[in-house]
Amino acid sequence: MIEVKSLSKKYGNFLAVDNISFSIKKGEVVGFLGPNGAGKSTVMNIITGYLSYTKGKVTVDGIDIIENPEAAKRRIGYLPEMPPLYTDMNVKEYLYFVYDLKKVKFPKIAHINEIMRLVKIADVSNRLIKNLSKGYRQRVGFAAALVGNPDVLILDEPTVGLDPKQIIDIRNLIAKLGKNHTVILSSHILSEIQAVCERVIIINRGQIIADDTPEDLAIKLSGGNTVEVRIICDEESMIKTLSSIADVESVISLGKKEKDAYDFSIVPKDKKDIRAAIAAKVSESGKTLLSMSSGGMSLEQVFLRLTEAGDGDAVRKLLGEVKEDFEPAEEAANEDEEIKTEQTAEKEGEE
Ligand code: ADP
Ligand code: MG
Repeated sequence: MIEVKSLSKKYGNFLAVDNISFSIKKGEVVGFLGPNGAGKSTVMNIITGYLSYTKGKVTVDGIDIIENPEAAKRRIGYLPEMPPLYTDMNVKEYLYFVYDLKKVKFPKIAHINEIMRLVKIADVSNRLIKNLSKGYRQRVGFAAALVGNPDVLILDEPTVGLDPKQIIDIRNLIAKLGKNHTVILSSHILSEIQAVCERVIIINRGQIIADDTPEDLAIKLSGGNTVEVRIICDEESMIKTLSSIADVESVISLGKKEKDAYDFSIVPKDKKDIRAAIAAKVSESGKTLLSMSSGGMSLEQVFLRLTEAGDGDAVRKLLGEVKEDFEPAEEAANEDEEIKTEQTAEKEGEE
């Protein structure tokens, strides 16, 4: 649905996006995770056709965003970091205005009513936007993105500045929309991405440093995916039993923790997930497994480790995915020629 190939973007001499490539399939819900300044908004602004780029190619549903911007943009609903709401309009007027701007063909009143119901703003449809709470304003931004029923939703930090209750509401809304849209959501907050995304692309200093499911990322970086168990057993014989599991590298006893129960720390071979095999083996030996926890890193730790590792190469090493053919930053961005989109001149004038 979205193809981004070797995309680079320079602001002056500053390389904000450095040779990024990824593709997103129809129906995927993908999170862009990265610290502030990583380049998330820049990539989103480029995909939505609001910002020019220096090098690369971007297509949406097979349509090149430069060659055919109108058709590409019709497929995208965009919620920018700061939605450009006209605060002196009321909610319904504003959405009618967006409808006209997007030249939507559906029956106007029914279409806008349906969207207002979906994002739960029907009750404030006649209120001035300037009098709405931040949470409601964000919903109006969502509604605007949904006008025209685009297949793709691009949501830039949609919960920034909201209170916890509003964050949950917006997350639920994203989860609901994710069922029948392709969604890209950016956040510098990991739990946000974990809550709604099935795939996470970690961006740091303009580069993609990881692209995986949240679960697999945690496993890959877990430093062994160690499992801790508590079992009612005889210590010595259980060490032998656990060691006999095919994918187990080593077993250490952590000692007696409860009456007749011992804790063991088990390291798998090749970072394999051995939890099911352990449970089966313990049960087969007629012993009782009281608890099991994965000693691997939480995604939070993974993210910190990735972004603190700094440069992309160090992180790729962490992931065991060092690419030999990786283009150095300088070379990747040697072409200064800007590829312009329709809005570029206008947009850059403002910056
Ligand atoms: P994120 O959304 O991940 O926080 P951005 O895409 O907004 O990151 O910014 C990436 C980098 O590009 C940052 O270092 C930021 O300062 C820089 N940047 C963003 N917009 C501009 C601009 N219009 N001019 C110059 N530098 C910019
Ligand atoms: Mg941003």
